[in-house]
Amino acid sequence: MIAAVHALTGAALSRLCRTHGQALVVGAVSHVVADALPHRDLGVPEEALLLGAALGAIGIMRGGGSKEFAGAMGAALPDLENLMVRALKLPESRLLLPTHRDYHGRKTRGFGGQIALAAVCLAALTLP
Ligand SMILES: [Zn+2]
Repeated sequence: MIAAVHALTGAALSRLCRTHGQALVVGAVSHVVADALPHRDLGVPEEALLLGAALGAIGIMRGGGSKEFAGAMGAALPDLENLMVRALKLPESRLLLPTHRDYHGRKTRGFGGQIALAAVCLAALTLP
């Protein structure tokens, strides 16, 4: 799953949480679930650009110290291992998260599902 979509999903789900800690955990759990869904991934530069934009938008909308931002970080941080493996050109067998290795969702050709999920999450973030 695109890291920016992970961040938006974690931020949206954190609206259901009472604390920053809960938001962080819910975000991390949502990462595993989302990675198991069929999706298409991007290259590292595109991932970094979109993740920066998503985190910036969440920070502007809800604040950098908000539980929504904590949820976004919890959801996006597991992809650091993807970045490290790609940047260091390590074998994918070095990945720790099961959904980054054995239980990764089927690869799709398009981004429709992720765009729809991102739109729903953005809408949830605009609710009071
Ligand atoms: Zn991932």
